[in-house]
Amino acid sequence: MKIVYHPLMRESYDHTPAGAPGRLETSVEILSKHPDYEFVEARPATEEEINRAHAPGHIKRVKADYDSTREDLLYQVATLAAGGAIMTAEIAVQGEPAFGLIRPPGHHASHSSYWGFCYYSNLALSLLALRTNGLIEFAFVLDFDLHVGDGTIDILGHDKQFIIHNPKGQGDDAYLADVQDALKKHPDVDIIAASAGFDQYERGWGGNLTTQAFHEIGRLMFEFAEEHCENRRYGLLEGGYNHEDLGKNILAFCEGLRGV
Ligand SMILES: [Zn+2]
Repeated sequence: MKIVYHPLMRESYDHTPAGAPGRLETSVEILSKHPDYEFVEARPATEEEINRAHAPGHIKRVKADYDSTREDLLYQVATLAAGGAIMTAEIAVQGEPAFGLIRPPGHHASHSSYWGFCYYSNLALSLLALRTNGLIEFAFVLDFDLHVGDGTIDILGHDKQFIIHNPKGQGDDAYLADVQDALKKHPDVDIIAASAGFDQYERGWGGNLTTQAFHEIGRLMFEFAEEHCENRRYGLLEGGYNHEDLGKNILAFCEGLRGV
């Protein structure tokens, strides 16, 4: 299974928890050593691709917004995250699972504003790229981050071709039941994509889900994709701030996503 990533994402590009030093270390360590995962290097998104979801002037604001010692690092990494998201979707639409090990996250980036450690709407950009190229019509977005993906909703929420679901539920069982219910209601899509946040983790900010629950979410997506949308499924990293366990949780999700 392909993991889309770029070495620049390992560097701390801003002072938010998402851009913190060391955040991706365990993920890179675990996935790069695992024989069933292959790293592919993210490319930067083009301005045309970014402008599909964002207002004129948005890119300029991201370029001007930095608190890093390297003044264009944030812009570079954000552009790679957006391009990496599109690459991840392009792999998945061929029927092969893929995961975007990317940062900064994207689900709090709206059409003309951003907050919550996000800059570009990686997930919206990835789906809009597929639709623009005639590869999909309808998509299901499962956003299992602790926080509601207000940016994704702002950009895609009024478009009938995109269904966005943020599951709720205290504890693994209630949460997974909500995911299952939502999947049952929306079988007629061409692809399923996850805003994969790991901040619901029991030893994370949300204090809610176990590692096994992330595996189950991946597995439910695998089964859904197999039955309804020609095996097309992918995930993009959003939140998740327990550095030590992030790699383990991402691996659990990816194993489920590839049907293991
Ligand atoms: Zn979050």
